[in-house]
Amino acid sequence: MPRTKKIVTESLPETDVKQIKALLSTLVEYAKKKLYLSRYDGVYALNRLLSLFRFDSPEEPLPDIPDFQTGLLDPLVDYAVKNGLTTDEERLLFETEMMGLVTPSEGEVIARFDQTCSMEGAPRATQYLNEISVNSNYIRMADINKNIRWTANFPEGNLCVTINLSKPEKSNAEVARQKSLPQTGYPKCMLCLENLGFRGSLTHPARETIRIIPLFLNDEAWFMQFSPYVYFDEHVIAVSETHHPMQITDETFVRLMDFTEMFPHYFLGSNADLPIVGGSILSHEHYQGGKKVLPMFSRPARKNFASKKYPSVSIATLDWYNSVIRLTGRIRDEVQAAAHDILAAWRSYSDESQHVIAKTDQPHNTVTPIATMENDNYVLYMILRNNRTDELHPYGIFHPTEDMHNIKKEGIGLIEAMGTFILPGRLQKELSAIAKILSDGNTPDFRSLSEENNPLSKHFDMIIQMVNEFGTSLSTKEARSKIIDRVNTTCQKILECTAVFKNTEDGQKAFEKFLNSVEITLA
Ligand SMILES: [Zn+2]
Repeated sequence: MPRTKKIVTESLPETDVKQIKALLSTLVEYAKKKLYLSRYDGVYALNRLLSLFRFDSPEEPLPDIPDFQTGLLDPLVDYAVKNGLTTDEERLLFETEMMGLVTPSEGEVIARFDQTCSMEGAPRATQYLNEISVNSNYIRMADINKNIRWTANFPEGNLCVTINLSKPEKSNAEVARQKSLPQTGYPKCMLCLENLGFRGSLTHPARETIRIIPLFLNDEAWFMQFSPYVYFDEHVIAVSETHHPMQITDETFVRLMDFTEMFPHYFLGSNADLPIVGGSILSHEHYQGGKKVLPMFSRPARKNFASKKYPSVSIATLDWYNSVIRLTGRIRDEVQAAAHDILAAWRSYSDESQHVIAKTDQPHNTVTPIATMENDNYVLYMILRNNRTDELHPYGIFHPTEDMHNIKKEGIGLIEAMGTFILPGRLQKELSAIAKILSDGNTPDFRSLSEENNPLSKHFDMIIQMVNEFGTSLSTKEARSKIIDRVNTTCQKILECTAVFKNTEDGQKAFEKFLNSVEITLA
């Protein structure tokens, strides 16, 4: 869609124009300081900015750099909207275009990353890429900081819970308008290499500020970038250069291990390759990783196993909510061989006593694999998954049941399977409203609550249970803490639902029986 471009600056008071010109020069100073923009690129960038704003000469920068978002970017974009350089709807696109002009080029970032990697090591290099990603506003930290986060402490394993407020929910009118916009099919998806420098549209994020690092995984061309959503510390994504669907094969293990050899301070994991148990994007092969801060990593072994086939590999089931096998060893080939045997066996393994059926008219068994390095050992976690549905469980037999959908309905991907929950932003308002019901001393109007257009109707059963249990005269603080407890235990139950072998004596025996089928026995 063409942007309206009117040159109306001459009619503006001269002081306003002077101030905006000074902010543009200040933005370049910001980029020199925070994005390592060189002096020469600084001169170049300032001229590109002047052209974007239809100015023919600059002003001196401000003596001090104001707040990045509210003092620098917002007034510049406000000016651009007011003067027809962009529209209010396209503010974010304009802001990203502007930041793209002062962010060092892709080639420059790759060169600096490689140099830092060889001189100062991989952790310093990834820190550099993270810094660029945050300071260019590719990662919008001001938005991310709006998220509400807490830790749920449980003896069976702590969980991290985030209510995701950084993605504002769209109004119905916006959704309808966006649906009516033409789709070009370029780039093919949000992960394709062609996003690099892409202007974006109202339906596709602007990516002039994304910077990626090419890498070879399993001798294939991949690249890594930071996730703009930051679901945990230094959340990175490794993406295949070609647009092809997610697939879990032996090669997945090779790629994950190649990555963790290069970046031993990070983990890397793949979502499963089937719907319900996979991530939200199944169409483009990609993995997710970052700092090893996800709760599953701190869990001990539940039972130790061994196999004569791979004597150097320590094999354990993990003391965690779902069914995890952990392989640890110094000899990479042996860890890979064990992973191969487990995956191959699991793909066709059925145990009807546990409702695990490998295939109906389609395959159901897969794994969520995650690799890390610990003290020079290769560590591979394999979370066993099954996505079968039946009449009683239309959403999935190993998926949260309907009574939990008010909290989480979407597929449980690898980040959540490891104990980091990302819950929808709508919950902030809804949970506050429920806290009010529990503390205002009156009998709630159950009839209106159950009406479909009431945003609390999806919580109806939970509200009835909580009112029965706690009454409606709690203090505001008590009410909030009861609701948080409720969310926390729901997250626990959600993870338990995803366990193909339940954490019962019978379930764990069945787990052992599966391992025995691959000649892995109790140590
Ligand atoms: Zn793609």
